[in-house]
Amino acid sequence: MYGNLKEGRGILIGRMQPLHNGHIQVIKDALKEVDELIIGIGSAQISHTVENPFTAGERTLMIKKALSEHCIKGDKYYIIPIPDIMNNFLWVSHVEMLTPHFNKVFSGNPLVQRLFTEAGYELNEHTTFNRNILSGTKIRNLIIHDGEWENSVSKSTSDIIKEIDGVERLKHIFLKD
Ligand code: NAD
Repeated sequence: MYGNLKEGRGILIGRMQPLHNGHIQVIKDALKEVDELIIGIGSAQISHTVENPFTAGERTLMIKKALSEHCIKGDKYYIIPIPDIMNNFLWVSHVEMLTPHFNKVFSGNPLVQRLFTEAGYELNEHTTFNRNILSGTKIRNLIIHDGEWENSVSKSTSDIIKEIDGVERLKHIFLKD
């Protein structure tokens, strides 16, 4: 199941709306504990809302480019979109169906922690980094209100957000809400 992986394979699931420097730090730390990391893009079916402005494809690009910017090689991770389902009890099986086998779960989200623990997985609670600033909600608010958000994300992520007209998209959606 794990081939010749010594420490095995981990999983981190997040909406990454957008990917920020807290996510990057968690990914770096997780890769010190496992040989390979599955990065699950949560709520993959949702985009173009204030809570979830970016598509799974756009988030895939953010992750790929930012990890390359941080010198993390592509053979260390998998990026897998994970759509939500209406049933929390079955969600872990749904994740298992979409991903390679894994033996460690990295999460700071209480519901995600609970569901994987009940399913018998080893849970690694990760450190929280500067949550006052490094939070998707705060970054989206700063984008909407012309605040300083670019320092909280990788250069490649801010480039992608600008290229896809993400600032305008968020402001537009916010006004229509
Ligand atoms: P998120 O992007 O907010 O967080 C992802 C991870 O990064 C979490 O472990 C979080 O603790 C960590 N993180 C965020 N900011 C950090 C910081 N500053 N420092 C350190 N770590 C930080 O994503 P999320 O909302 O937690 O994603 C969970 C996903 O799982 C959602 O898409 C949710 O819908 C999905 N889910 C779905 C079901 C279902 O479909 N039934 C059930 C449970 C969870």
